[in-house]
Amino acid sequence: SITAGGWLGIAMPKAHGGSGLGVTEAALMMRRITQSGGGFTAASSVHINIFGPHPIVKFGSAEQQARMLPPLIRGDDRTCFGVTEPNAGLDTGAIETRAEWDGSHYVVHGQKHWTSAAQRANKIMLLARTAPRDASEKGTDGLSLFYTDLDRAHVEIHEIAKMGRKAVDSNALFIDGLKIPREDMIGEEGQGFHCILQGLNPERILIGAEAIGLGRAALAKATQYARERHVFGRPIGQNQSIQHPLAEAWAELEAANLMLFKAARLYDAGEPCGAEANAGKYLAADAAHKACERAVLTLGGMGYARE
Ligand SMILES: Cc1cc2nc3c(=O)[nH]c(=O)nc-3n(C[C@H](O)[C@H](O)[C@H](O)COP(=O)(O)OP(=O)(O)OC[C@H]3O[C@@H](n4cnc5c(N)ncnc54)[C@H](O)[C@@H]3O)c2cc1C
Repeated sequence: SITAGGWLGIAMPKAHGGSGLGVTEAALMMRRITQSGGGFTAASSVHINIFGPHPIVKFGSAEQQARMLPPLIRGDDRTCFGVTEPNAGLDTGAIETRAEWDGSHYVVHGQKHWTSAAQRANKIMLLARTAPRDASEKGTDGLSLFYTDLDRAHVEIHEIAKMGRKAVDSNALFIDGLKIPREDMIGEEGQGFHCILQGLNPERILIGAEAIGLGRAALAKATQYARERHVFGRPIGQNQSIQHPLAEAWAELEAANLMLFKAARLYDAGEPCGAEANAGKYLAADAAHKACERAVLTLGGMGYARE
């Protein structure tokens, strides 16, 4: 339904079938998805399609945008995002997957880890090394970004068993001789890290907004239960020890929401928003966790029931 309604193109240019709106509107949408009760399961299956292709919007040529964006918006193409590797998580500059130019193509060898949604993706946004790490001062130089076919003849995909978030698969990818044409490189060679950074701040903002929606859904459930559940002859919500923890969680949630939407406004205005996006996600995650925990406690034993 999200695809059929055109929502995947919310932050993509109108010229290519998108809505031409900003990260602010995308964050509102994602907040609504979790707030509806869908939680992170619902949000996770949507959000990679919103922030993942953002480097194409920011750095893709006119030809690349016209070729790559419409099938993504229509849902004909499904992408995954290959950055993390077994030996490189937070330290992105340490990635070892290499793309070597053979005169007609880049040829990729290496491994990716935790690649979400690869089971059903036919495209990958792939970060690979095109120059050795020690060739420049900054470890994050010499990385290049590609948006290309996930050709299973050259990529083995193994699902990682997880404890939760099962609606979206996570995978280990083994890449052996994947050929990528030059026209699938996004941005300049060696500047791939700077290109993905453009997708990371929107990702932080969207995930933070999703956390807010989740926290709001939890508080809505808890406050309703507190009104309806009678113990010792009156609603439990008449006790301040039920009210105050929920009120505190609400205040923290709404404060985090303000920080997140400040970050979104800055991003949409083309201004630096790294500090606000990071702070917003940090505050929102904590506030949502607290809201959920307090909601579970408010429900007493029923807080532990699947229902
Ligand atoms: C469900 C799920 C989906 C994911 N989807 C994708 C995806 O689609 N594409 C993709 O590329 N990646 C994906 N990831 C990977 C995710 O981005 C990485 O897990 C993350 O970047 C952290 O890397 P790491 O797990 O290797 O942790 P590490 O880098 O090994 O860090 C381990 C721990 O050490 C801490 N740490 C590291 N360095 C320092 C330091 N200097 N000071 C203090 N603490 C430090 C970290 O905070 C962490 O707690 C996904 C992960 C999960 C769990």
